[in-house]
Amino acid sequence: MLFELPGGKSVQAEGAGSKAIARVQLEDAAALELDYLVPTSLQHRVFIGTRVMVPLQQQRVSAVVLELLDQSSHGYRLKEILDIKGKGDPVFTNALLKLARWVADYYVCPVQQVLRAMLPKAVRAKPESFITDSHLTLVKRPSDDEIEKLRAKAPMQARILDELAAAGGTAALSLLRRELPKASSYLPSLLMKGWITRAEVRVERDPFDREEFLPTQPLDLTEEQTVCLAPVLAAVENPAQSRPMLLHGVTGSGKTEIYLQAIAKVLERGQTALVLVPEISLTPQTIERFKARFSDQKERIAVLHSHLSDGERHDEWFKVHERRADVVIGARSAIFAPLEKLGLIIVDEEHEPSYKQEESPRYNARDLAVVRAKLENCAVLLGSATPCLESFHNACIGKYELLRMTRRTDGKSMPLIRIVDLRLERRKGGNSPDTRILSERLRTAVLARLEKNEQTILFLNRRGYNTSLSCLACGHVCQCQDCAVPMTLHKTDDRLVCHICGSRRVPPRKCPSCGDPGIRFAGFGTERVEQVLRQAFPQARIARVDTDTMQRKNQLRDTLRDFRSQKLDMLIGTQMIAKGLDFPNVTLVGVLNADLALNLPDFRASERTFQLLTQVAGRAGRGEVKGEVFVQTFAPHSPAVQFARQGDFEGFAQQELEQRKIFHYPPDTHVILVMARSKNESMAEFTLQNIATKLRAVVGEHGRMGEPMPSPLAKAHGQFRFQLIIRSSGVRALARQIHGVVDGMTFPQEVIVTWDVDALNLM
Ligand code: ADP
Ligand code: ZN
Repeated sequence: MLFELPGGKSVQAEGAGSKAIARVQLEDAAALELDYLVPTSLQHRVFIGTRVMVPLQQQRVSAVVLELLDQSSHGYRLKEILDIKGKGDPVFTNALLKLARWVADYYVCPVQQVLRAMLPKAVRAKPESFITDSHLTLVKRPSDDEIEKLRAKAPMQARILDELAAAGGTAALSLLRRELPKASSYLPSLLMKGWITRAEVRVERDPFDREEFLPTQPLDLTEEQTVCLAPVLAAVENPAQSRPMLLHGVTGSGKTEIYLQAIAKVLERGQTALVLVPEISLTPQTIERFKARFSDQKERIAVLHSHLSDGERHDEWFKVHERRADVVIGARSAIFAPLEKLGLIIVDEEHEPSYKQEESPRYNARDLAVVRAKLENCAVLLGSATPCLESFHNACIGKYELLRMTRRTDGKSMPLIRIVDLRLERRKGGNSPDTRILSERLRTAVLARLEKNEQTILFLNRRGYNTSLSCLACGHVCQCQDCAVPMTLHKTDDRLVCHICGSRRVPPRKCPSCGDPGIRFAGFGTERVEQVLRQAFPQARIARVDTDTMQRKNQLRDTLRDFRSQKLDMLIGTQMIAKGLDFPNVTLVGVLNADLALNLPDFRASERTFQLLTQVAGRAGRGEVKGEVFVQTFAPHSPAVQFARQGDFEGFAQQELEQRKIFHYPPDTHVILVMARSKNESMAEFTLQNIATKLRAVVGEHGRMGEPMPSPLAKAHGQFRFQLIIRSSGVRALARQIHGVVDGMTFPQEVIVTWDVDALNLM
């Protein structure tokens, strides 16, 4: 889309621009806060949040203004700020600077690292690198006489005028050039004669390519929706009196409609809204639901996620920065979108682990939503069909307000979940490995669907054909050289692949260790399942959806479209198909191996399994026919499986919370994971032991410290990994102490030490 360059945007930064001293945070150098004089030439242009260039030793370095002061408390002679970066309007709002401070304190990381994470790379490196275009407008159509003369003497000029007239009097130069590639060179004479004008405009790189959406109207709410929306609206009106809200609504209960109507209210009040969605759910369909509802101002919705090109992200960010957008939809890092006048922050699928950043700053965007809402005095709404236990616990103790929706909007009952006990199946089916992939009961159920022209989704969160290769003679297992995991056979490529680092090699024909030809492949992934299915149902149209088959751009979109239009009978896929998809004709969902998640060495394994089964089950029976779900497992009596079968989230949460309390795991405590990694195994181990000895003194009675030990993933990318888990209820003080200890120690150069507050990944 085209629009005028914003001229003279008024900056209403907090903090007067006239104070003489700026306290700045250097962006790249050490975590230093320094004071500089604001030269007279820059007064009224330097605000809190402005990026500036300052002298440091002999260099020019970039910095962000944190505070404006009358006096410096630092003892040194102050130097002057050299210049401002970009146009100089603050890139960080005051609230975001406070949030950065909070993140740095809580997750114990340098604040400049947080500030860096807050700005998209493209904005940081090259602010205001917009693409521009010229807008040509016909101001005065020459007389017929003149035109005729022009046609004879300067036919190109005449053609440009014709084209402009045909386009309704105005056109972008880039479009004109498609017809007349040399148009630019004829513009000066046209301009001089006063027949046309030319204005520079910015061209927005639109990730959704100017798609048009059919506008939607607010729906008449169901009773449950009405009950749940009321407190959200009240919170928007009076955030100071409200608590963070947790919306627990079963899949299909219409949570998105609540979000939409709450956002409408926020916009009506002249405020802005921020919607966080897990990266994987941030599909065109999701965005369309928002853009279509606010279609009268769809230009005012900005989208921020990692699949955008740098240029697109730059433009979307500026859309927010220049206050042309009132609604931001984005993944994790969108929590830092520079919105002002925030009225509401929404976190959809709040239980999603992808809200946690796995590199420093290791923040959890869901938790930051609550913090930011408090700093900005706005409402915050977390939504999920399977809230994480931390949030649910907060609701139980009254820190959050719990809102419940227990029914689907279409009045359909939840799908029937049947457990297939693989132990029994094995006894019945003899030794055929295929019955473990597709039990007799599941096979019958699939057949019935094929006969009725209904659709099936089968789910297995593991790629490849076989998941291990071992020698029957000596027991050798083919592992990746750089990672302590067995390599997976990908049959289509005939390669063994490491799923941690991606390295590939040719599968051996005999044991690499003892030379015995009796090597055996075991375990199955989606590639193998696809083959079994094609044999079992030769007439069925089957597609496999995983990162191996979905390499081409738009391939996922096309496959899902074919499935929706029933050109396919069956999908077999990984977590790519577990979430958010809504296919009315799917009446059967199969979870081929529920034990994969259950057997992870992680205290959240049970919770993850419950979430997965519930989310996957939510894909079945969205249309007229009641859905059926088959869950294949060797552990049919585990609470996660049983409670998921009953669709009983609160029952599951109660018993799991008791377990967590007994073992002092979150949410009863906070977990800090300290890790030492190195290519040198003993160096990593020794370093962590050293840290442990020093930590034992400071942790003392404030928490529980485990023993240093190899991580469950003992080696990855060539580095050996050792870890230490500390649990404590007073996490902030403890994290700072750990930081103090670790910071005061020197480590061998080849060892990397990290700590992760509220770690989600304990591998
Ligand atoms: P959830 O996010 O809770 O899983 P959705 O928001 O995707 O559920 O809603 C499920 C379906 O119900 C969608 O197709 C939506 O359009 C529809 N829906 C939501 N609210 C209503 C309503 N009040 N009346 C009719 N249909 C609704
Ligand atoms: Zn590897």
